[in-house]
Amino acid sequence: MYILIKTIKVSSSHYLNLNHNSKDRNLHGHNYVIKVFCRSESLNEDGVVCDCSKIKNAIVEAFDHKELNRLIPQPTMENIAKYVFDLSGDKCFKVEIMETENNKAVYEK
Ligand SMILES: [Zn+2]
Repeated sequence: MYILIKTIKVSSSHYLNLNHNSKDRNLHGHNYVIKVFCRSESLNEDGVVCDCSKIKNAIVEAFDHKELNRLIPQPTMENIAKYVFDLSGDKCFKVEIMETENNKAVYEK
């Protein structure tokens, strides 16, 4: 099995609708580090698992310098990870998203 891992960095803003009092209810920004994991038993005609530039472009286009609430109703790291997973094509089996050094979420198939 071949595995390809693409790291993408985007700067985005969001706010969260939370049931408890939190500063995350206010609009604020993060420098997200997103890792997209793709796998395949065979390589394509270019000798790679998949075209990472397409995935990167789709994520940058959707997220970079954007307010995530316009895309995702409740843009927690978990929901962002699932959104990225759905953008990343059928070779993707896992997405990691890091909001800060201490906060990371994973969605996997
Ligand atoms: Zn936040």
